[in-house]
Amino acid sequence: MSWLRIEKLAVEVRGKLILKDFNLNIEKGEVHVLLGPNGAGKTTLIKTILGFKNYKVVNGHIFFKDKDITNLPTNERIQMGIGVLFQHPPAINGLKLSKLLTVCSEKRGNNTECTDELSSDIQQLATRLKFSPEYINRDVNLGFSGGEVKRSEILQMMVLKPDLLLFDEPDSGVDVENVELIAKIMRELLDRDKIPSKQGKSGLIITHLGYILKFLGHITRAHIMMDGTITCSGDPALIINSIMKNGFEACRECVSCVENSSLLKEVDFTL
Ligand code: ADP
Ligand code: MG
Repeated sequence: MSWLRIEKLAVEVRGKLILKDFNLNIEKGEVHVLLGPNGAGKTTLIKTILGFKNYKVVNGHIFFKDKDITNLPTNERIQMGIGVLFQHPPAINGLKLSKLLTVCSEKRGNNTECTDELSSDIQQLATRLKFSPEYINRDVNLGFSGGEVKRSEILQMMVLKPDLLLFDEPDSGVDVENVELIAKIMRELLDRDKIPSKQGKSGLIITHLGYILKFLGHITRAHIMMDGTITCSGDPALIINSIMKNGFEACRECVSCVENSSLLKEVDFTL
């Protein structure tokens, strides 16, 4: 079954066409990586999948689990099982992270009692992410460092347990040690260690670095996005090697350079 299917999507933001003829299909159990230069429209894609206002679909459709969600409100999309780690999530003055986590847990059908105490399950998850009770009782993302923001986003995903996980630059602004921690949890959330027939989660990972992918096991497919559309798709190791060696600008001239293995041998990057 297709977990995420995007057909001929065109999206306008404040009167400007950002996504154009965008197509993507992610089957149940698949993890794809999306690469592209700044301004290509990657974050716009994520916000459109979530149904943010100001991101106006002017053509095409988005399907999740074969249901057309193009016009569904954001909260219904989340309840259906879409989870996002945002590139720049907002700080929320007056809302404690602990409260947000409890609400997330309730939305997933857990009978958390109406108390200010966090359930022991959530506390354990927080400890794994190196969050002390003091952090959990702070306002969401307010004054958090870059790495703390990403870990707070991952923690919310661990509680929500989505079926389709969208990661918008989970590694940006994070030190190496915490990239490995975040990657380890992403690997679990994506069912990467289960046998293929038991892998029920799907993922789309946006990253500049490629480094985080080393920890995630098999990546099904990589895509290069430029100027609001996918210009090249294929084997992740080949594509990432090519970008590391030749940069995105080379893609503008010749996307088929990934087939030229002599270009790739000099870069030591294996997934
Ligand atoms: P990427 O994530 O690939 O770096 P973005 O999706 O953030 O790219 O941005 C793509 C283009 O859309 C940029 O030109 C950006 O300025 C524009 N854009 C995105 N969101 C908005 C917005 N809310 N208002 C105005 N322009 C926007
Ligand atoms: Mg972005």
